[in-house]
Amino acid sequence: MGDTILVLDAGTTSTRAMLFGLDGTVERLSQAELTQHYPKPGWVEHDAGEIWDKTLACAREVVGEDAARIACIGITNQRETVVAWDRDTLEPLARAIVWQDRRTADLCARLKEQGHEPEVQRRTGLLLDPYFSATKMRWMLDNDETVRRAAERGALAFGTVESWLVAKLTGGGHVSDASNASRTLLMPLKGAQFEPGLSDLFEIPLATLPRVVDTHGHLAETQLALFGRAIPITGMLGDQQAATVGQGCLSPGETKATYGTGAFILTNQGDTPPTSDHRLLGTVLTQRDGQRRYALEGSVFVAGSLIQWLRDTLGLIDSAAETEELARSISDSGEVVVVPALSGLGAPHWRADARGAITGLSFASGRAQIARAALESMAHQTHDLAEAFAADGRRWAGLKIDGGMSANDWMAQDLADILALEVERPDFVETTALGAAVAAAVGAGLHPDLPAAVHAMRGGVRRFSPAMEASVREERLTRWHRALAGI
Ligand code: ADP
Repeated sequence: MGDTILVLDAGTTSTRAMLFGLDGTVERLSQAELTQHYPKPGWVEHDAGEIWDKTLACAREVVGEDAARIACIGITNQRETVVAWDRDTLEPLARAIVWQDRRTADLCARLKEQGHEPEVQRRTGLLLDPYFSATKMRWMLDNDETVRRAAERGALAFGTVESWLVAKLTGGGHVSDASNASRTLLMPLKGAQFEPGLSDLFEIPLATLPRVVDTHGHLAETQLALFGRAIPITGMLGDQQAATVGQGCLSPGETKATYGTGAFILTNQGDTPPTSDHRLLGTVLTQRDGQRRYALEGSVFVAGSLIQWLRDTLGLIDSAAETEELARSISDSGEVVVVPALSGLGAPHWRADARGAITGLSFASGRAQIARAALESMAHQTHDLAEAFAADGRRWAGLKIDGGMSANDWMAQDLADILALEVERPDFVETTALGAAVAAAVGAGLHPDLPAAVHAMRGGVRRFSPAMEASVREERLTRWHRALAGI
Protein backbone atom coordinates (compact mmCIF):
# COMPACT_ATOMS: atom_id res chain seq x y z
CA MET A 1 0.00 0.00 0.00
CA GLY A 2 1.23 3.50 -0.83
CA ASP A 3 2.32 5.90 1.87
CA THR A 4 1.20 9.21 0.35
CA ILE A 5 -2.12 10.95 -0.38
CA LEU A 6 -2.64 12.93 -3.56
CA VAL A 7 -4.84 15.98 -2.97
CA LEU A 8 -6.42 17.86 -5.86
CA ASP A 9 -7.51 21.33 -4.73
CA ALA A 10 -9.46 22.99 -7.54
CA GLY A 11 -9.96 26.53 -6.26
CA THR A 12 -11.40 29.67 -7.82
CA THR A 13 -8.24 31.47 -8.87
CA SER A 14 -5.94 28.48 -9.11
CA THR A 15 -5.88 24.71 -9.06
CA ARG A 16 -3.29 22.66 -7.23
CA ALA A 17 -2.05 19.19 -6.56
CA MET A 18 -0.28 18.27 -3.34
CA LEU A 19 1.34 15.09 -2.12
CA PHE A 20 0.78 14.54 1.62
CA GLY A 21 2.57 12.12 3.89
CA LEU A 22 0.46 10.22 6.46
CA ASP A 23 1.74 12.63 9.13
CA GLY A 24 0.30 15.63 7.27
CA THR A 25 3.57 16.91 5.81
CA VAL A 26 3.53 18.15 2.23
CA GLU A 27 6.11 16.42 0.08
CA ARG A 28 5.33 18.14 -3.21
CA LEU A 29 3.09 20.87 -4.57
CA SER A 30 2.24 22.09 -8.03
CA GLN A 31 -0.08 24.99 -8.82
CA ALA A 32 -1.54 26.64 -11.93
CA GLU A 33 -3.55 29.86 -12.26
CA LEU A 34 -7.03 29.64 -13.79
CA THR A 35 -8.28 32.12 -16.41
CA GLN A 36 -11.18 34.20 -15.13
CA HIS A 37 -13.74 35.14 -17.79
CA TYR A 38 -15.95 38.19 -17.14
CA PRO A 39 -18.17 38.40 -20.25
CA LYS A 40 -20.56 40.97 -18.70
CA PRO A 41 -20.81 42.89 -15.43
CA GLY A 42 -21.74 40.44 -12.68
CA TRP A 43 -20.91 37.38 -14.81
CA VAL A 44 -17.99 35.10 -13.91
CA GLU A 45 -17.08 32.02 -15.96
CA HIS A 46 -14.39 29.34 -16.03
CA ASP A 47 -13.33 27.02 -18.81
CA ALA A 48 -14.03 23.54 -17.39
CA GLY A 49 -11.59 22.03 -19.90
CA GLU A 50 -8.86 24.27 -18.49
CA ILE A 51 -9.75 23.25 -14.92
CA TRP A 52 -9.33 19.59 -15.87
CA ASP A 53 -6.20 20.02 -18.02
CA LYS A 54 -4.38 22.08 -15.39
CA THR A 55 -5.48 19.89 -12.48
CA LEU A 56 -4.27 16.79 -14.33
CA ALA A 57 -0.98 18.48 -15.27
CA CYS A 58 -0.40 19.49 -11.62
CA ALA A 59 -1.28 15.96 -10.46
CA ARG A 60 1.11 14.38 -12.97
CA GLU A 61 3.87 16.74 -11.90
CA VAL A 62 3.63 15.86 -8.21
CA VAL A 63 3.09 12.15 -8.86
CA GLY A 64 6.05 11.85 -11.26
CA GLU A 65 7.29 8.27 -11.35
CA ASP A 66 5.82 7.53 -7.94
CA ALA A 67 2.26 6.43 -8.78
CA ALA A 68 2.87 3.26 -6.77
CA ARG A 69 3.31 5.37 -3.63
CA ILE A 70 -0.13 7.00 -3.90
CA ALA A 71 -2.49 5.25 -1.50
CA CYS A 72 -5.52 7.35 -2.37
CA ILE A 73 -6.81 10.64 -3.75
CA GLY A 74 -8.65 13.44 -1.92
CA ILE A 75 -10.48 16.16 -3.84
CA THR A 76 -11.54 19.60 -2.63
CA ASN A 77 -12.98 22.37 -4.76
CA GLN A 78 -14.61 25.74 -5.19
CA ARG A 79 -18.25 25.11 -4.36
CA GLU A 80 -21.52 25.91 -6.19
CA THR A 81 -19.83 26.45 -9.60
CA VAL A 82 -21.74 24.54 -12.29
CA VAL A 83 -20.19 22.49 -15.11
CA ALA A 84 -22.26 21.03 -17.97
CA TRP A 85 -20.72 18.23 -20.00
CA ASP A 86 -21.63 15.58 -22.55
CA ARG A 87 -21.80 12.24 -20.75
CA ASP A 88 -20.70 10.36 -23.89
CA THR A 89 -17.73 12.45 -25.00
CA LEU A 90 -16.90 13.93 -21.55
CA GLU A 91 -16.42 17.32 -23.23
CA PRO A 92 -17.74 20.53 -21.61
CA LEU A 93 -20.86 21.91 -23.32
CA ALA A 94 -20.54 25.48 -22.06
CA ARG A 95 -18.37 27.64 -19.87
CA ALA A 96 -18.75 26.82 -16.18
CA ILE A 97 -20.80 29.43 -14.28
CA VAL A 98 -18.78 30.37 -11.20
CA TRP A 99 -20.21 30.77 -7.68
CA GLN A 100 -19.62 34.55 -7.76
CA ASP A 101 -21.81 34.98 -10.85
CA ARG A 102 -24.96 37.08 -10.26
CA ARG A 103 -26.74 36.59 -13.62
CA THR A 104 -29.66 34.72 -12.05
CA ALA A 105 -30.55 37.49 -9.57
CA ASP A 106 -33.86 38.18 -11.35
CA LEU A 107 -34.86 34.54 -11.36
CA CYS A 108 -34.09 34.31 -7.65
CA ALA A 109 -36.10 37.47 -6.97
CA ARG A 110 -39.04 36.03 -8.90
CA LEU A 111 -38.97 32.76 -6.95
CA LYS A 112 -38.79 34.75 -3.73
CA GLU A 113 -41.78 36.88 -4.74
CA GLN A 114 -43.69 33.69 -5.42
CA GLY A 115 -43.04 32.83 -1.76
CA HIS A 116 -40.74 29.82 -2.23
CA GLU A 117 -37.90 30.87 0.04
CA PRO A 118 -39.15 29.67 3.46
CA GLU A 119 -39.78 26.13 2.17
CA VAL A 120 -36.48 26.06 0.25
CA GLN A 121 -34.63 27.26 3.34
CA ARG A 122 -36.38 24.73 5.57
CA ARG A 123 -35.47 21.85 3.27
CA THR A 124 -32.00 22.75 1.99
CA GLY A 125 -30.63 25.14 4.66
CA LEU A 126 -29.92 27.65 1.85
CA LEU A 127 -31.49 30.87 0.56
CA LEU A 128 -32.77 31.84 -2.88
CA ASP A 129 -29.58 33.53 -4.03
CA PRO A 130 -27.68 33.33 -7.36
CA TYR A 131 -24.68 32.07 -5.33
CA PHE A 132 -26.07 28.50 -5.28
CA SER A 133 -26.02 26.08 -8.22
CA ALA A 134 -29.65 25.39 -9.18
CA THR A 135 -30.48 28.68 -10.89
CA LYS A 136 -27.16 28.56 -12.77
CA MET A 137 -28.20 25.19 -14.23
CA ARG A 138 -31.60 26.63 -15.09
CA TRP A 139 -29.91 29.55 -16.84
CA MET A 140 -27.83 27.19 -19.00
CA LEU A 141 -30.91 25.18 -20.02
CA ASP A 142 -32.80 28.36 -20.89
CA ASN A 143 -30.03 30.22 -22.69
CA ASP A 144 -27.50 27.79 -24.10
CA GLU A 145 -28.60 25.95 -27.21
CA THR A 146 -25.84 23.30 -26.89
CA VAL A 147 -26.80 22.49 -23.32
CA ARG A 148 -30.50 22.33 -24.18
CA ARG A 149 -29.93 20.00 -27.14
CA ALA A 150 -27.75 17.71 -25.05
CA ALA A 151 -30.56 17.56 -22.47
CA GLU A 152 -33.03 16.58 -25.20
CA ARG A 153 -30.68 13.81 -26.39
CA GLY A 154 -30.26 12.55 -22.82
CA ALA A 155 -26.53 13.34 -23.00
CA LEU A 156 -26.41 16.26 -20.54
CA ALA A 157 -24.51 15.82 -17.27
CA PHE A 158 -24.54 18.62 -14.70
CA GLY A 159 -22.18 18.72 -11.76
CA THR A 160 -20.15 20.89 -9.46
CA VAL A 161 -16.36 20.96 -9.88
CA GLU A 162 -15.55 17.78 -7.88
CA SER A 163 -18.16 15.95 -9.93
CA TRP A 164 -16.54 17.15 -13.18
CA LEU A 165 -13.08 16.07 -12.00
CA VAL A 166 -14.36 12.62 -11.02
CA ALA A 167 -16.06 12.23 -14.41
CA LYS A 168 -12.70 12.85 -16.09
CA LEU A 169 -10.64 10.87 -13.56
CA THR A 170 -12.87 7.80 -13.82
CA GLY A 171 -13.75 8.10 -17.51
CA GLY A 172 -17.46 8.76 -17.08
CA GLY A 173 -18.51 8.36 -13.42
CA HIS A 174 -21.25 10.81 -12.41
CA VAL A 175 -21.19 11.40 -8.66
CA SER A 176 -21.11 14.33 -6.25
CA ASP A 177 -20.27 14.19 -2.57
CA ALA A 178 -22.88 15.22 -0.01
CA SER A 179 -20.99 18.36 1.11
CA ASN A 180 -20.91 19.77 -2.42
CA ALA A 181 -24.42 18.52 -3.19
CA SER A 182 -25.70 20.45 -0.18
CA ARG A 183 -24.76 23.73 -1.93
CA THR A 184 -26.97 23.25 -4.98
CA LEU A 185 -30.49 23.91 -3.58
CA LEU A 186 -31.45 20.51 -5.05
CA MET A 187 -30.73 18.16 -2.14
CA PRO A 188 -32.58 18.38 1.17
CA LEU A 189 -30.35 18.43 4.27
CA LYS A 190 -32.24 15.33 5.42
CA GLY A 191 -32.45 13.61 2.02
CA ALA A 192 -29.81 11.22 0.68
CA GLN A 193 -30.15 12.28 -2.97
CA PHE A 194 -31.23 15.14 -5.21
CA GLU A 195 -35.03 15.29 -4.96
CA PRO A 196 -37.87 15.85 -7.40
CA GLY A 197 -39.66 18.42 -5.20
CA LEU A 198 -36.65 20.71 -5.48
CA SER A 199 -35.54 19.88 -9.03
CA ASP A 200 -39.12 20.57 -10.22
CA LEU A 201 -39.08 24.03 -8.66
CA PHE A 202 -35.94 24.94 -10.63
CA GLU A 203 -36.99 22.81 -13.61
CA ILE A 204 -33.80 20.75 -13.66
CA PRO A 205 -34.28 17.19 -15.03
CA LEU A 206 -33.19 14.79 -12.27
CA ALA A 207 -31.50 12.56 -14.89
CA THR A 208 -28.92 15.30 -15.54
CA LEU A 209 -27.76 15.28 -11.90
CA PRO A 210 -25.08 13.08 -10.31
CA ARG A 211 -25.60 10.40 -7.68
CA VAL A 212 -24.79 11.71 -4.22
CA VAL A 213 -22.08 9.78 -2.38
CA ASP A 214 -20.23 10.00 0.97
CA THR A 215 -17.49 12.55 1.60
CA HIS A 216 -15.11 9.75 2.57
CA GLY A 217 -15.01 6.04 1.83
CA HIS A 218 -14.31 4.15 -1.37
CA LEU A 219 -15.96 6.63 -3.73
CA ALA A 220 -14.47 5.91 -7.16
CA GLU A 221 -11.26 4.81 -8.93
CA THR A 222 -9.15 6.57 -11.52
CA GLN A 223 -8.97 5.07 -15.00
CA LEU A 224 -5.83 3.06 -15.59
CA ALA A 225 -4.39 5.25 -18.33
CA LEU A 226 -4.02 8.42 -16.23
CA PHE A 227 -1.39 7.35 -13.71
CA GLY A 228 -0.55 3.85 -14.95
CA ARG A 229 -2.68 2.22 -12.24
CA ALA A 230 -6.16 2.61 -10.81
CA ILE A 231 -5.98 4.82 -7.71
CA PRO A 232 -8.94 4.95 -5.32
CA ILE A 233 -10.63 8.31 -4.73
CA THR A 234 -11.53 8.19 -1.03
CA GLY A 235 -12.21 11.78 0.00
CA MET A 236 -14.28 14.59 -1.55
CA LEU A 237 -15.29 17.81 0.19
CA GLY A 238 -16.23 21.35 -0.75
CA ASP A 239 -13.43 23.76 0.16
CA GLN A 240 -15.02 25.29 3.29
CA GLN A 241 -16.09 21.92 4.66
CA ALA A 242 -12.56 20.62 3.95
CA ALA A 243 -11.06 23.53 5.89
CA THR A 244 -13.42 22.80 8.79
CA VAL A 245 -12.19 19.19 8.87
CA GLY A 246 -8.56 20.29 8.39
CA GLN A 247 -8.95 22.58 11.40
CA GLY A 248 -10.20 19.64 13.44
CA CYS A 249 -13.63 21.19 14.12
CA LEU A 250 -15.15 17.76 14.61
CA SER A 251 -17.33 18.33 17.72
CA PRO A 252 -20.45 20.49 18.01
CA GLY A 253 -19.64 24.16 18.64
CA GLU A 254 -16.11 23.98 17.23
CA THR A 255 -15.73 26.80 14.71
CA LYS A 256 -13.30 27.82 12.01
CA ALA A 257 -12.99 31.13 10.19
CA THR A 258 -11.08 31.43 6.93
CA TYR A 259 -9.95 34.99 6.23
CA GLY A 260 -9.10 35.20 2.54
CA THR A 261 -10.63 37.58 0.01
CA GLY A 262 -13.85 37.19 2.02
CA ALA A 263 -14.35 35.30 5.26
CA PHE A 264 -16.17 31.98 5.67
CA ILE A 265 -17.15 30.81 9.12
CA LEU A 266 -18.47 27.31 9.84
CA THR A 267 -19.57 25.84 13.16
CA ASN A 268 -19.87 22.11 13.62
CA GLN A 269 -23.49 21.28 14.31
CA GLY A 270 -23.18 17.54 15.04
CA ASP A 271 -25.78 15.20 13.60
CA THR A 272 -28.83 17.50 13.67
CA PRO A 273 -29.57 19.51 10.53
CA PRO A 274 -29.18 23.19 11.39
CA THR A 275 -31.97 25.72 11.20
CA SER A 276 -31.42 29.47 11.35
CA ASP A 277 -33.57 32.46 12.20
CA HIS A 278 -30.70 34.76 11.24
CA ARG A 279 -30.18 33.82 7.62
CA LEU A 280 -27.16 31.65 8.34
CA LEU A 281 -26.79 28.64 6.05
CA GLY A 282 -27.20 25.00 6.93
CA THR A 283 -24.81 22.70 5.12
CA VAL A 284 -23.54 19.12 5.11
CA LEU A 285 -20.09 18.94 6.70
CA THR A 286 -19.28 15.24 6.18
CA GLN A 287 -20.98 11.98 5.32
CA ARG A 288 -19.79 8.43 6.00
CA ASP A 289 -21.92 5.34 5.34
CA GLY A 290 -24.84 7.71 4.78
CA GLN A 291 -24.43 9.25 8.27
CA ARG A 292 -24.14 13.03 8.13
CA ARG A 293 -22.53 15.71 10.23
CA TYR A 294 -23.76 19.23 9.60
CA ALA A 295 -22.44 22.77 9.92
CA LEU A 296 -23.93 26.22 10.25
CA GLU A 297 -22.24 28.70 7.94
CA GLY A 298 -21.97 32.46 7.70
CA SER A 299 -19.91 34.49 5.29
CA VAL A 300 -18.54 38.00 5.25
CA PHE A 301 -18.05 39.38 1.74
CA VAL A 302 -15.13 41.69 2.40
CA ALA A 303 -12.07 40.61 4.39
CA GLY A 304 -8.64 40.54 2.70
CA SER A 305 -10.10 42.43 -0.26
CA LEU A 306 -10.35 45.49 2.02
CA ILE A 307 -6.61 45.32 2.59
CA GLN A 308 -6.05 44.90 -1.15
CA TRP A 309 -8.17 47.99 -1.71
CA LEU A 310 -6.09 50.00 0.76
CA ARG A 311 -3.01 48.88 -1.15
CA ASP A 312 -4.08 48.94 -4.79
CA THR A 313 -6.79 51.61 -4.99
CA LEU A 314 -5.89 54.02 -2.19
CA GLY A 315 -2.14 53.36 -2.26
CA LEU A 316 -2.15 53.71 1.53
CA ILE A 317 0.14 50.73 2.09
CA ASP A 318 2.77 48.93 0.04
CA SER A 319 1.97 45.44 1.24
CA ALA A 320 -0.83 43.68 3.14
CA ALA A 321 1.59 42.76 5.90
CA GLU A 322 2.37 46.45 6.51
CA THR A 323 -1.06 46.85 8.16
CA GLU A 324 0.31 44.96 11.15
CA GLU A 325 3.20 47.40 11.72
CA LEU A 326 0.86 50.37 11.28
CA ALA A 327 -1.71 48.95 13.72
CA ARG A 328 1.01 48.36 16.32
CA SER A 329 2.44 51.87 15.90
CA ILE A 330 -0.55 53.49 17.70
CA SER A 331 -2.50 52.60 20.84
CA ASP A 332 -5.96 52.96 19.30
CA SER A 333 -7.58 53.97 16.02
CA GLY A 334 -8.48 57.44 17.36
CA GLU A 335 -12.23 56.80 16.88
CA VAL A 336 -11.85 55.93 13.20
CA VAL A 337 -14.19 53.10 12.18
CA VAL A 338 -14.16 51.33 8.81
CA VAL A 339 -17.41 49.69 7.68
CA PRO A 340 -16.16 47.37 4.93
CA ALA A 341 -19.44 47.14 2.97
CA LEU A 342 -17.65 47.71 -0.35
CA SER A 343 -19.81 45.04 -1.98
CA GLY A 344 -22.73 45.11 0.44
CA LEU A 345 -22.94 43.32 3.77
CA GLY A 346 -23.24 39.54 4.09
CA ALA A 347 -24.36 37.53 7.11
CA PRO A 348 -25.93 38.39 9.45
CA HIS A 349 -26.94 41.77 8.00
CA TRP A 350 -27.64 40.74 4.39
CA ARG A 351 -27.75 44.24 2.99
CA ALA A 352 -26.73 43.88 -0.64
CA ASP A 353 -27.27 47.59 -1.28
CA ALA A 354 -25.18 48.83 1.68
CA ARG A 355 -21.94 50.67 0.83
CA GLY A 356 -18.77 51.15 2.83
CA ALA A 357 -17.85 54.04 5.10
CA ILE A 358 -14.93 55.44 7.07
CA THR A 359 -16.28 57.37 10.06
CA GLY A 360 -14.77 59.31 12.96
CA LEU A 361 -12.11 61.10 10.90
CA SER A 362 -10.27 64.06 12.44
CA PHE A 363 -7.02 65.88 11.56
CA ALA A 364 -5.29 63.39 13.86
CA SER A 365 -6.37 60.50 11.58
CA GLY A 366 -3.67 59.21 9.27
CA ARG A 367 -2.52 56.08 7.52
CA ALA A 368 -2.01 54.17 10.75
CA GLN A 369 -5.50 54.91 12.10
CA ILE A 370 -7.17 53.86 8.87
CA ALA A 371 -5.08 50.69 8.51
CA ARG A 372 -5.77 49.76 12.13
CA ALA A 373 -9.48 50.48 11.76
CA ALA A 374 -9.53 48.29 8.64
CA LEU A 375 -8.05 45.37 10.60
CA GLU A 376 -10.41 46.08 13.52
CA SER A 377 -13.38 45.75 11.17
CA MET A 378 -12.58 42.03 10.80
CA ALA A 379 -13.13 41.46 14.52
CA HIS A 380 -16.25 43.64 14.44
CA GLN A 381 -17.83 41.72 11.56
CA THR A 382 -16.86 38.41 13.14
CA HIS A 383 -18.38 39.53 16.44
CA ASP A 384 -21.74 40.20 14.76
CA LEU A 385 -21.66 36.75 13.23
CA ALA A 386 -20.80 35.20 16.60
CA GLU A 387 -23.92 36.87 18.05
CA ALA A 388 -26.07 35.53 15.19
CA PHE A 389 -24.70 31.99 15.67
CA ALA A 390 -25.36 32.25 19.41
CA ALA A 391 -28.91 33.48 18.79
CA ASP A 392 -29.42 30.42 16.58
CA GLY A 393 -28.34 28.29 19.55
CA ARG A 394 -24.83 27.63 18.34
CA ARG A 395 -22.42 29.53 20.56
CA TRP A 396 -18.78 29.25 19.48
CA ALA A 397 -16.55 27.26 21.78
CA GLY A 398 -13.42 28.88 20.37
CA LEU A 399 -12.27 30.08 16.98
CA LYS A 400 -9.73 28.40 14.72
CA ILE A 401 -8.51 30.76 12.02
CA ASP A 402 -6.76 30.31 8.68
CA GLY A 403 -6.52 31.96 5.25
CA GLY A 404 -3.98 34.51 3.97
CA MET A 405 -5.07 37.24 6.35
CA SER A 406 -4.70 35.05 9.45
CA ALA A 407 -0.92 35.52 9.11
CA ASN A 408 -1.50 38.93 10.72
CA ASP A 409 -0.71 38.40 14.43
CA TRP A 410 -2.20 41.75 15.41
CA MET A 411 -5.52 40.82 13.81
CA ALA A 412 -5.49 37.37 15.44
CA GLN A 413 -5.03 38.97 18.88
CA ASP A 414 -7.73 41.57 18.16
CA LEU A 415 -10.15 38.77 17.23
CA ALA A 416 -9.47 37.05 20.57
CA ASP A 417 -9.97 40.37 22.39
CA ILE A 418 -13.20 41.42 20.72
CA LEU A 419 -14.77 37.96 20.69
CA ALA A 420 -13.51 37.28 24.25
CA LEU A 421 -12.61 33.82 22.97
CA GLU A 422 -9.43 31.83 22.53
CA VAL A 423 -8.27 32.05 18.92
CA GLU A 424 -6.11 29.26 17.51
CA ARG A 425 -4.03 29.35 14.34
CA PRO A 426 -2.37 26.22 12.96
CA ASP A 427 1.29 26.45 11.96
CA PHE A 428 0.31 24.77 8.69
CA VAL A 429 -2.35 27.08 7.26
CA GLU A 430 -3.26 25.03 4.15
CA THR A 431 -6.25 23.66 6.03
CA THR A 432 -8.41 23.10 2.93
CA ALA A 433 -5.96 20.71 1.31
CA LEU A 434 -5.20 19.13 4.68
CA GLY A 435 -8.93 18.50 5.23
CA ALA A 436 -9.16 16.68 1.91
CA ALA A 437 -6.08 14.63 2.82
CA VAL A 438 -7.58 13.78 6.21
CA ALA A 439 -10.90 12.69 4.66
CA ALA A 440 -9.12 10.62 2.00
CA ALA A 441 -6.86 8.97 4.59
CA VAL A 442 -9.89 7.90 6.65
CA GLY A 443 -11.80 6.86 3.53
CA ALA A 444 -8.90 4.63 2.56
CA GLY A 445 -8.59 3.14 6.05
CA LEU A 446 -5.15 4.67 6.66
CA HIS A 447 -6.46 6.25 9.87
CA PRO A 448 -9.43 4.83 11.82
CA ASP A 449 -11.55 7.98 11.96
CA LEU A 450 -11.46 11.76 11.41
CA PRO A 451 -10.33 12.70 14.97
CA ALA A 452 -7.47 10.20 14.81
CA ALA A 453 -6.44 11.45 11.36
CA VAL A 454 -6.54 15.10 12.46
CA HIS A 455 -4.51 14.22 15.53
CA ALA A 456 -1.86 12.53 13.39
CA MET A 457 -1.82 15.07 10.55
CA ARG A 458 -2.62 18.58 11.83
CA GLY A 459 0.65 19.70 13.46
CA GLY A 460 1.23 22.53 15.93
CA VAL A 461 -0.88 25.62 16.67
CA ARG A 462 -0.40 29.08 18.10
CA ARG A 463 -3.00 30.40 20.56
CA PHE A 464 -4.14 33.97 21.14
CA SER A 465 -5.97 34.58 24.45
CA PRO A 466 -8.32 37.49 25.16
CA ALA A 467 -6.56 40.26 27.08
CA MET A 468 -8.63 43.40 26.41
CA GLU A 469 -10.40 45.27 29.20
CA ALA A 470 -14.17 44.86 28.97
CA SER A 471 -14.72 48.64 28.88
CA VAL A 472 -12.45 49.08 25.85
CA ARG A 473 -14.20 46.23 24.10
CA GLU A 474 -17.64 47.70 24.80
CA GLU A 475 -16.52 51.09 23.53
CA ARG A 476 -15.20 49.57 20.31
CA LEU A 477 -18.41 47.66 19.65
CA THR A 478 -20.63 50.66 20.45
CA ARG A 479 -18.69 52.77 17.97
CA TRP A 480 -18.89 50.01 15.34
CA HIS A 481 -22.65 49.60 15.70
CA ARG A 482 -23.12 53.37 15.50
CA ALA A 483 -21.12 53.49 12.25
CA LEU A 484 -23.05 50.51 10.89
CA ALA A 485 -26.39 52.15 11.63
CA GLY A 486 -25.25 55.18 9.66
CA ILE A 487 -24.75 53.44 6.30
P1 ADP B 1 -7.99 33.72 -1.34
O1 ADP B 1 -7.81 32.27 -0.99
O2 ADP B 1 -9.39 34.23 -1.11
O3 ADP B 1 -7.44 34.10 -2.68
P2 ADP B 1 -5.87 34.12 0.62
O4 ADP B 1 -6.27 33.17 1.68
O5 ADP B 1 -4.70 33.81 -0.23
O6 ADP B 1 -7.12 34.54 -0.27
O7 ADP B 1 -5.60 35.53 1.35
C1 ADP B 1 -5.19 36.66 0.64
C2 ADP B 1 -5.80 37.90 1.26
O8 ADP B 1 -5.26 38.12 2.55
C3 ADP B 1 -5.49 39.11 0.42
O9 ADP B 1 -6.72 39.79 0.18
C4 ADP B 1 -4.56 39.98 1.28
O10 ADP B 1 -4.93 41.34 1.20
C5 ADP B 1 -4.79 39.46 2.68
N1 ADP B 1 -3.54 39.40 3.48
C6 ADP B 1 -2.46 38.63 3.25
N2 ADP B 1 -1.52 38.82 4.20
C7 ADP B 1 -2.03 39.73 5.07
C8 ADP B 1 -1.54 40.35 6.28
N3 ADP B 1 -0.36 40.04 6.78
N4 ADP B 1 -2.36 41.25 6.88
C9 ADP B 1 -3.57 41.55 6.38
N5 ADP B 1 -4.08 40.99 5.26
C10 ADP B 1 -3.33 40.11 4.61
